[in-house]
Amino acid sequence: MLPEELEADFVQLNAPKYRVMQVFRWLGRGVRDFNEMSDLPKPFRDKLHENYRIYRPRVLKKQVSAIDGTIKYLWELADGQAVETVVMSYQHGNTVCISSQVGCRQGCAFCASTIGGLVRNLEPSEMLDEVLFSQLDSGKTISNIVLMGIGEPLDNFEHVMRFLSLVNHPQGMNIGMRHISLSTCGLTERFDELAARDLQLTLSVSLHAPDDETRSRLMPANRGRGVDQLMESCKAYYKKTGRRISFEYAMIDGVNDSERHARLLAERAKAVNAHVNLIPLNHVEERQFRPSTTGHMKAFIHILEDKGVNVTVRRRLGSDVDASCGQLRRKNQNQIVCTEGEKH
Ligand code: SAH
Repeated sequence: MLPEELEADFVQLNAPKYRVMQVFRWLGRGVRDFNEMSDLPKPFRDKLHENYRIYRPRVLKKQVSAIDGTIKYLWELADGQAVETVVMSYQHGNTVCISSQVGCRQGCAFCASTIGGLVRNLEPSEMLDEVLFSQLDSGKTISNIVLMGIGEPLDNFEHVMRFLSLVNHPQGMNIGMRHISLSTCGLTERFDELAARDLQLTLSVSLHAPDDETRSRLMPANRGRGVDQLMESCKAYYKKTGRRISFEYAMIDGVNDSERHARLLAERAKAVNAHVNLIPLNHVEERQFRPSTTGHMKAFIHILEDKGVNVTVRRRLGSDVDASCGQLRRKNQNQIVCTEGEKH
């Protein structure tokens, strides 16, 4: 709940206004019981107990990369479902990559998160818990959030918007919108609505192919929408918000890494002034795709740069702890994963 909502509730409980911040601070420390809120009078703690519940996710699995210290968590939620969260350390601070749904219904051909389909949406509080408990458990202060874990954030639109208000709240975790990236497979019907919220977050579009033939093969979300429509939506979003969009592009050997793809991608990116973030594909056991060769990647980057496109290659973090794309949850289901890294 937002502090202003608690305030309204507390009036009903005949509690003074300052109780809100006391409770809020305790929640931020991860208490699991109202009785731990030791500066609150006992009768008020009892009232809280009668009216609310605190849930704390349980660590099902925690893996720490021996190579770069990336931490991957698999959390057990109140109903026994599990989601992954990854904490990555960069020079500019710590980034947490969170899931927005249990499973995913988008069906991207290279992604592990979608294999068992969508189970359910995450509650705003569950997304907030991913950030809070990753911070508390790891001891690393989180400065950036990427919604690039399991699930499609725009398919859980209202809950994600509410989570953003919570995590951004000055009296809460106070993480600035400019430090938050939301990644989408391109649910264009939601772009105007997102732009209308006038948030300063970064919108990342998982493009992965600049033409309909390749993109529809890789991403069912492209069927019925199409790359032209996606580009129009990106253009409108950029015009309305003034925020540059980032195109995610996972390089897949022999599928989307040809010169033709590079030239068309350059045209697309320039038309909407997008930044291109190349990702060497993470191989997923159940999928047949392989990452592009270093040679192909270099040639691809060369074409983009030559055409004046702003391009970066995503660093691979946590490769020894399955920190990519729904792999941890998947492995745990099979006897159990996490998600993708972020840009530099
Ligand atoms: N549903 C959202 C966010 C989740 S995925 C989206 O589609 O953007 C975060 C990023 O990881 C997306 O760009 C996704 O396409 C990418 N991804 C998924 N599987 C991958 C894999 N095996 N290798 C590299 N990137 C992958």
